[in-house]
Amino acid sequence: MKKFKCIIAAAISVITVFSASGCSSIIKTDDPFQKEMHQSESRWITDVCETEDGYYILFGSYAYFIDKNTKKTALLCTKPECAHNDETCNAYLSGYTIFSTADRLFYSNASYVEENGEFVNRGERLYSVALDGNDRKVVQDLEFEPSGNSTYSTPILHKGYVYFVYCGILYRMPLGGNINENAEALWGNEVEKDDRQIFDSIPVGHSFTLWADGDNIYVMTNVQQSDGTYKDILYAYSTADESVKEVWRTPNADTVGEWTSAGVEVSKWYIKDGYIYFYLSGGDYWRCKLETEEYEKLADTYEKTPYGKAMFNDEYMCLLNSEPEDKSIPGYEIAGSYGYDFNNLIGGDTFFVYGIDGSFKCGLSLGSLYEELPDLEDIAPVFIDDNEIWFVAQETHYTGETGVMQEGFLPVGGVKTYDFTLCCVNINSGEITRVNSWHRE
Ligand SMILES: [Zn+2]
Repeated sequence: MKKFKCIIAAAISVITVFSASGCSSIIKTDDPFQKEMHQSESRWITDVCETEDGYYILFGSYAYFIDKNTKKTALLCTKPECAHNDETCNAYLSGYTIFSTADRLFYSNASYVEENGEFVNRGERLYSVALDGNDRKVVQDLEFEPSGNSTYSTPILHKGYVYFVYCGILYRMPLGGNINENAEALWGNEVEKDDRQIFDSIPVGHSFTLWADGDNIYVMTNVQQSDGTYKDILYAYSTADESVKEVWRTPNADTVGEWTSAGVEVSKWYIKDGYIYFYLSGGDYWRCKLETEEYEKLADTYEKTPYGKAMFNDEYMCLLNSEPEDKSIPGYEIAGSYGYDFNNLIGGDTFFVYGIDGSFKCGLSLGSLYEELPDLEDIAPVFIDDNEIWFVAQETHYTGETGVMQEGFLPVGGVKTYDFTLCCVNINSGEITRVNSWHRE
């Protein structure tokens, strides 16, 4: 059914190339891809972007601004008398991706729009607001036909173009352009021939992660192999010569040694200067030169911690020691089998900081936080910038009876409430700053 829809959409898009009269207002910008901001592993802080003055984060459905100097955090709404509790609030972005240019903040969201008293599905669209949260505008559509389920990538901005995946095909269009007039298909037809059957066999939405480095746009996807395991496969589109090729796939254990989920996916990766850097939880820290497929182990991280969550920027690789969640819970294997699985590690009390080249820098203890926050259960890395590692500390408060198994599925934990505290730790001083916190029932 999904395939059928895509064919229809392709046909419509061909027709509209000749007949569309929709307007476009292309926005000129040379902004590079903000790759150091695409690292969040927090279920609550889903994305971050940076401007000269500060950071914008999405917590829940709301956007916040953090001043870089003072670390003061404010909801992105200056509307007088706003209760900040529904979609009329300027800070209510409800998106899952954000990026910025010099004077605007952009986010994508699946749109149901009220038209003539009815809610109409307008599909995934890119919006923008001014940096103070005012002046919300629709920038462009990200789906040829609103389906609600065909976009499996978050769009990225690279040198004036928005790159996005629709129905398994990589497109680009100028920022502010019209999808029917300006979108160019770059990649996907080869996949249609060779791997589409495999794509269709994946039970839950297929994911594509977009990335950019230099002149290349990368698409990471996760494909089921004939032996039933999943592998990350990386394609590169060159904006210089417009070629597309597969440049990397998850190596086998005979190349990089065993890791926790051998033959499945790498724990975390980062692309810089033609290399893919990746950490293998249960293994070590590696890189591969994409042009020559030469592998190089950069650090024996297993000596510091057997498992962990890795996070990168251009300068550092930080590793949070954390432990696999209790896999004896019935249902875990089902929940953990979807390929990308960021959330199967929990806890952590030390960041091991490496240069991106693998040179060990220091260990940063989070022990004092566990003393201050007795119900601290999990640490989720969010981003690294300017010698600071940002993370969310999650406290889970249980009241009532805990640990009761419900019908052989997930345990009932009594009544739970949560406190999420956004913190940062300075790599040079080890000082921890608690920046902002949120309470959730
Ligand atoms: Zn508000």
